This record gives sequence, structure tokens and C-alpha cells, in this order.
Amino acid sequence: MGYSYEYTRHAVATAPRTCGHCRAAMEVTLEVVGSSGAIPDYADTLATRERAMQAGLAHDLRRALPLVRCPTCRQRSTMAVRLAIARVAGWFALVPILPIIAPGGLDVLWLLPIGFAVAGLAQLASERARLRRADAAVVRLLAAPPPPKPAAPPPARLPAARVVSPAASAPATPTVEPLASAAPVRASEPMGDAPRLLRDRDGEP
Ligand SMILES: [Zn+2]
Repeated sequence: MGYSYEYTRHAVATAPRTCGHCRAAMEVTLEVVGSSGAIPDYADTLATRERAMQAGLAHDLRRALPLVRCPTCRQRSTMAVRLAIARVAGWFALVPILPIIAPGGLDVLWLLPIGFAVAGLAQLASERARLRRADAAVVRLLAAPPPPKPAAPPPARLPAARVVSPAASAPATPTVEPLASAAPVRASEPMGDAPRLLRDRDGEP
């Protein structure tokens, strides 16, 4: 009656990662820790539990993978690090809110800032554990970063665009025609209104 269960599982995952700094491609094998989240007892079947566990493991993999250092440039994903810090800082940012809003001391409500602080510490422990798992990952470099290649594709696209340009100019002309046919209709309306306005203004004084 009203119970819910949360399951945790450790697993080893292998996933591809491309470094956002140097574009090196790698294959990462690391330990992931998945949580099922709270599953109410009435829904706690083996299939439900397995689905929730797989979602939890995938969630942890998404967060841990960009924290793995690139073997070429030794960088983690800057965004992933910032988000991890923000998740911890977010809890601690909530701590002083109640003392600011209600400085009177409202007994039971004052458990809230303590709760936020405890949640912040738990989040910090979780993020640090994930960082340790990311640092313990086995990384296999698949492709070294290609720095001169980004400069090569633009000249290849330009001649291709010139070949298409005579064909592209032909369909460009029919699009002008509906614009030209629409122009006289629009022009006639303001021209019809404008004299009337002028006449009214002239008639008033
Ligand atoms: Zn890199």
C-alpha cells in the first residue's frame, strides 16, 4: 500500500564520442551507474523495472561520456563540466532563499534550507563519483583530429554552386512574375485611398 522502490545498477557501457574541442573520434568504455527512479509497488513488474533501469543507465551514460578526457587534447566537454557544477550550485542557491523571504524563523519551514543543503551535498557526491568513473574510462582513439580538412570543403562547394547556377537562374525568373502581378494590385489600393485622404484634409480647413 503506497510503497515505491528505487533500484540501482552498475554496468559497463561502450559508446562513441567525438571531442568538441579537437574533433578526435574515440570509443569509450566506462562504468555507468543507473537508477530506476521511484517505481510504485503496483507497477513493479520485472519488465517495468528493466525499462526504468535501462533508462537510468542511458541517462548516466549521457552525462558521463562528455566528462571523459579526450586522449588527444586532454579536454573534457566544457558544457558538461559547467552543467555538473550548475546542478550542485542550484541546490545551494536555494538555501538562503527562505531566510531572505521569511526572516522571522518559521520552525518547520526552516527544515527546507537544511534539506536543500543536504540535497546539494548529495548532488556533489554524485557528480564527483561520475567524474571519477569518467577518469577511469578506457578510451580508444578511432580517428585523430584533422585540422586542415575544414578549410578544404569550402572551395569544393563553390565550383559545384557555379555549375548549378544557370539552372537555378531559370526557376528564379518565374518567381518574379507573381511578384510583378501582385504589385499593381497593391499599388492601386493606396493610390485610391491617398487622394481621398488628401481631399478630406483639404476640405476641413
Ligand atoms: Zn580533443
